[in-house]
Amino acid sequence: MRIGGFLKLSLCDWPGRPAAVVFAQGCNFRCPWCHNPTLVSAEPAGPLIPEEEVLEWLARRRDFLGGVVVSGGEPAVQPDLLSFLAKLKALGLAVKLDTNGSRPEVVAAALGAGLADFVAVDYKVPARMYGMVSSDGLAAAGPVLETVRAVLLVRKGLVRTTAVPGVHDEKILEEMRREAGADILVQPWRRPPG
Ligand code: SF4
Repeated sequence: MRIGGFLKLSLCDWPGRPAAVVFAQGCNFRCPWCHNPTLVSAEPAGPLIPEEEVLEWLARRRDFLGGVVVSGGEPAVQPDLLSFLAKLKALGLAVKLDTNGSRPEVVAAALGAGLADFVAVDYKVPARMYGMVSSDGLAAAGPVLETVRAVLLVRKGLVRTTAVPGVHDEKILEEMRREAGADILVQPWRRPPG
């Protein structure tokens, strides 16, 4: 895994669980309101964190952690995501995957193999507005909705969005709920650090 960041303890990334957070480097979307802009480029500004270093730390602390969140960037674009998740599971850790939903086949494989215990899928905007976050435009929304369906079908996660001032109003959120066929956890946008 190309790891651009590692948070040893978070009390808010997996509600109810004290969790470590692994941030994958690189994302296939370009949300103008990205909360982790330094993780978007495949090439980080600084050095990557060696995977072995992260796994060793987790192995030492696993009894004190409620789980690990794998976030990003976008974890599902990493070719070795599934083998990394398998290493986390081999440590006996519960795993939450945060994803923009663009790779439904990867998320389905992770769920099918028992490598993710919970998945949070970001549904960014209504399908007709996906050009705001992806050069694939409307076509980018189809795979995301496929991921949403896969996660909800097995009751292993939720759909969420970041409400950005000037983009998301109640009408837009209602349109998104209709398209997702689910309630959406709405999180307020926060200016990225720095
Ligand atoms: S999907 Fe997430 S990491 Fe990627 S650009 Fe959007 S907010 Fe940033």
